[in-house]
Amino acid sequence: MDDTDSLQGGCTTETLFRLIQALPEHVTVGPARLVRLWPFAQQRTRGNAAVAVELNTEDEQGLLVFLEHYWRNCILPLRGMVQTSQHNDREQFPSDPGMVWFSESVNDYTIYREGLRRELSLQNLPTPTKSWGGHGQIGATLAILWPAEELTFEAIAWREPSANGLRQLDKRAIEHVDEMEGTFLCRDDRLGESLLAPRGVSPVLFGIRAWTRDVAMEALEVLLDAPNTEPVIGSLVFETNQATNDHLGHSIVGRVDRVEVLRGGHTVIHASEQRFLAFKESGQIATISQQLREGDVVEWKGLMAPDQSIHIEFMKIQQLAPHKHRPACPTCDKSMSSMGKDQGLRCKKCGHKTDDCWIETPRLLPVNQWFQPPASSRRHLAKPLDNAPSIQNNL
Ligand SMILES: [Zn+2]
Repeated sequence: MDDTDSLQGGCTTETLFRLIQALPEHVTVGPARLVRLWPFAQQRTRGNAAVAVELNTEDEQGLLVFLEHYWRNCILPLRGMVQTSQHNDREQFPSDPGMVWFSESVNDYTIYREGLRRELSLQNLPTPTKSWGGHGQIGATLAILWPAEELTFEAIAWREPSANGLRQLDKRAIEHVDEMEGTFLCRDDRLGESLLAPRGVSPVLFGIRAWTRDVAMEALEVLLDAPNTEPVIGSLVFETNQATNDHLGHSIVGRVDRVEVLRGGHTVIHASEQRFLAFKESGQIATISQQLREGDVVEWKGLMAPDQSIHIEFMKIQQLAPHKHRPACPTCDKSMSSMGKDQGLRCKKCGHKTDDCWIETPRLLPVNQWFQPPASSRRHLAKPLDNAPSIQNNL
């Protein structure tokens, strides 16, 4: 299912959890999954994630009757609520929940990958055995099509309905989870902030990302059992495509033509083939981008936005153009200029002459090293450079 969250709260992960809790006894529950989709989708939900779960039963008809009722009573009423947006300038779309059921498991890596890189419509997708609702059917189907060959895990726990205000998480348990081998994106070191609790209105108390299911389970227990963590209605470990780089294609190598710093602080790099955008919040990517010069050769990875610019998620300088300039006149301290080929240099002010030469200043930017934005400004899908187990293969 997808597209069930709204300004009034709610989160698609919680909707799925509640559905699982309500399942009839003849149904056994398989793995649940949380799949992040194309971040630029027009009607995206808050976290732009769809969810799915494998259900097994001898009585599919009975299950479908249950799903029909559950849809009508518990999910359909969520339709039409306006979603929150972290970007005030973004158009608000009312939520349009969708749910699909496939009798057999279906995988399609090609369509799934397309769903991470562009807007898809229902016509692009295989037809489910049964479907409910509207726009959310697209994300719901993509969540099922994801082959989950490369996957990570997220343990999510939800607050009690009466809970509001600040989330109560045990501080020592937070540190413990952060230090565990195999968890990732628990904190933003630059800001010194924990990233376990979501920001804004959400029934989610915390989400712990981990490279393996075992670590996710263990960390979940640590946090839930800690004395100062508030009570929860339940928890679930999801398989997820987070931190897989699935949304990215090959890197692009280009030669810098010019660099433009926009009024808002973002930087546009005009390169031989493409325009690249470094957001103000992107840390070293932003500061390095501003110091690039014509002739630098840079390798980038990022998603193409609807305006055709590429939003930088990974960046590596391959080659720096030498920074050369003419020597200054010893009397006037002004840069001297060439008088023509083999004619030497001359100071325009006092006429001082010297042999033709260049002065080269070294450039101090790091070469052959990948950079990515700080943890809090990264896409869910982006693989962290610092502790991802298979980072060498995919970059
Ligand atoms: Zn001079």
